[in-house]
Amino acid sequence: MTLEKLENFIDGAYAAPHSGQWLETENPYTATAWGLIPRSDAADAEAAVAAAQRAFATGPWPALSPTQRAAMIHRIGDTIAAHAEELARIEVRDNCKTYKEMLNQVKRIPDWYHFYAGLADKLNGQVLPTDRPGHMNYVRHEPLGVIAMITPWNSPLMLLAWKLAPALAAGNTAVVKPSEFTTASALRFAELVYQAGLPSGVLNVVSGLGAEVGAALTAHPGVAKVAFTGGVSGGRAVYQAAARDLKPVSLELGGKSPNIVFPDADLELAARGVVSGIFGSGGQSCVAGSRLLVASEIHDNFLARVIELTRKIRLGDPMSPETDIGPVATRPQFDHIMNCIGFAREGGATVATGGVQVADPAGGPGLFVAPTVLTGVTNDMRIAQEEVFGPVLSVIPFEDEADALRIANDSDFGLGAGLWTRDVARVHRMAARLQAGSVWVNTYKATSQISPFGGYKMSGLGREGGTEMIADYTRVKSVWINLTDEVPYGFPL
Ligand code: NAD
Repeated sequence: MTLEKLENFIDGAYAAPHSGQWLETENPYTATAWGLIPRSDAADAEAAVAAAQRAFATGPWPALSPTQRAAMIHRIGDTIAAHAEELARIEVRDNCKTYKEMLNQVKRIPDWYHFYAGLADKLNGQVLPTDRPGHMNYVRHEPLGVIAMITPWNSPLMLLAWKLAPALAAGNTAVVKPSEFTTASALRFAELVYQAGLPSGVLNVVSGLGAEVGAALTAHPGVAKVAFTGGVSGGRAVYQAAARDLKPVSLELGGKSPNIVFPDADLELAARGVVSGIFGSGGQSCVAGSRLLVASEIHDNFLARVIELTRKIRLGDPMSPETDIGPVATRPQFDHIMNCIGFAREGGATVATGGVQVADPAGGPGLFVAPTVLTGVTNDMRIAQEEVFGPVLSVIPFEDEADALRIANDSDFGLGAGLWTRDVARVHRMAARLQAGSVWVNTYKATSQISPFGGYKMSGLGREGGTEMIADYTRVKSVWINLTDEVPYGFPL
């Protein structure tokens, strides 16, 4: 079979990698390579950053008024909406999350571009009432320059939108390094938005490995900021590399999020919330509710309901509307999940359901892990502390509210937390004390462009979403003007 050969997208045109090297990219469901992606290196990073710098400093992009820029960003949203099915199919071919999930996700991406387009002409400066006699002072919000955006494989275009929409709205330009497992959608997206009129060099895409072109991009002195989503080790490497030039970074990292169920909850609703909170996307979600904290007094009954629902989950072809979970997206990820189940057993956990590799019902070669519920877990076990990023739920009993809070917060991570209770006073007490960037009450995984999202502790740095975070893509300048004919001697501070 001839493999489709993709190229980087630099300065408004496709470009082969300087190295002349390529990496195979495969469909995890059929376990066959369908294409070749560029194995880019520092030379490609250099070309992309140079194009983005030119586009930032000269040409049509900086000449656009904020209102014109807003219209352009709005058009990007419309372009995605017009190509949602095509883009969702490309995502599914690479990451094998279900088509129904990815289509739903891609259809929501325009909201991000439309929301931030609306902010492009509202980055107001300020004239300050200064106490310096005879002086005027005003404050400007200026774009940073070239933003490097590094994204993971689980929700490629959505996580790109969380960065690109506010960055463009603030007047920056971008170089994107998508995951080596899901490169195709970003390349097609770049082509589509150029056809929609985005000036050359404003959005560039270089593909390849994190340790190669990703690291080169992060370390590039022409990059003004790095916006990263991925695992902790990649995030840490990015943070360290960015420190050399004191570049600001935003890091959206992993999680070990608790779903906390109290006896007074609507337990049927809670069971469905807990099961879809972990097993949606096959657990390949940063906010997967991978720890179930359940009150001891309802533990057995609630667990029985969770197991019953878990066993009903349908694995199979991600393109089929009947499928709830597709295969694991990559071989290393599959090995990691099985390894986690292994060390959980060794640590004393019991497999209540799942815990094994299962075959595709249609007989295909994809790598499937049966949705797994582990009981007998205590929060100090490795399985309760490390991110699996797969369909594995650890069940931990608690005694009372204080115990639940202690266990929930006893984690290096702090991305999300679910709370299932009808007690409104408890909701507010716990929402204030949970160390998590998002707290969901009687719901889970609700996100929106209007609301900030991000992590406490090792789950990250900075926020994406909401109006305030656009400031993270600007720098502030204070301008002083002497309105008199006098100059104070020595300019005392
Ligand atoms: P990953 O860290 O392996 O890779 C993410 C991206 O970083 C890829 O593009 C990769 O090539 C690049 N990269 C890796 N090392 C790098 C380096 N040293 N320098 C520069 N770039 C580098 O993560 P993944 O396996 O693709 O994604 C899964 C992880 O992402 C999970 O931990 C998950 O929780 C996290 N995630 C977080 C969020 C969030 O918003 N908090 C959302 C989705 C996924």
